Amino acid sequence: MTTLGTANAAPGETDTGRLEVGETRDGSPVRLPVAVINGAADGKTLYVQAVSDGDELNGLGVVNRVVPRIDPAELSGTVLVVGIVNYHAFQVAEHRNPIDDTKMNRAYPGDESGTTSERIAAATFEAAMRADLILDLHQGSTSRMIDEVRVRCGPRHRLHGDCLRLAKVFGCGYVLDQKGPDGQLARAGPDEGVPTIDPELGGCVGWDEESIRKGVEGTFNVLRYYGFLDGDVEVETQTRSRGFDQYASPAGGLVRFKREIGAEVSRGEDLFEVTDVFGTVKANVTADSDGIFWRSRRLPQVASGEYVCSVAVDVDSY
Ligand SMILES: [Zn+2]
Repeated sequence: MTTLGTANAAPGETDTGRLEVGETRDGSPVRLPVAVINGAADGKTLYVQAVSDGDELNGLGVVNRVVPRIDPAELSGTVLVVGIVNYHAFQVAEHRNPIDDTKMNRAYPGDESGTTSERIAAATFEAAMRADLILDLHQGSTSRMIDEVRVRCGPRHRLHGDCLRLAKVFGCGYVLDQKGPDGQLARAGPDEGVPTIDPELGGCVGWDEESIRKGVEGTFNVLRYYGFLDGDVEVETQTRSRGFDQYASPAGGLVRFKREIGAEVSRGEDLFEVTDVFGTVKANVTADSDGIFWRSRRLPQVASGEYVCSVAVDVDSY
């Protein structure tokens, strides 16, 4: 039997259940929804989690579609899933856990006697450490963003090559290869010897079906490539960036973008303009360097100095 929380699956079975992680303010248990898919044959273990940030629902869309499509009779190995990590933020559709105002993806590997976020991080990290590979499904919050996969361990890490390979197999087409901040699962996982990626499935309010489709396809690519399921995977060349230039508005007003997400931009080309309420242009902002138009704010109104968009720079392919 393979167990995660109350989910308990014999070989060839799928079960769902709850992983208890402390109590809410009214004393009822915090129980994260989990699934165990125990393959009929032996093999590796894949750990998948979603909604580490409470407003990032595309990963949940992926889990919601992938779990019923994996037939445990055809699976070699095990898939462990935590469908909603940031329980408290999910309830109120916010990014951060409102109980401790913490971003979950700064709390790994967690602390079982720490804050609510640290306790959830510790419990999910313990599950993740049973795996050979980790997928931590995110998105660019509610802003607009390209579908990409993040490798966060940094180029000098001993697992850098393994994480890059996993990102390439997942295959969104774009990879951000940049060491992440402390506390990310995509750093804590490799530090403990488990290749980990952080697919960033677009950015939207609610569900974006195209980003979810890429996440579903990426998860099945991983399952096939690493031998969980039969079938071939066409591993394709990925466009890789090593960082971003972020652009803020020089003036208060309304932003009009001159580029689409995913567009190549050259140094000096227009990125956006800012107008006043009645359409008079107040400022025009151009690219400081060559790159790819990667992410942009959703709301048109900006204050001076407020974030507008990101251009990925230092781009190559692998
Ligand atoms: Zn996130």
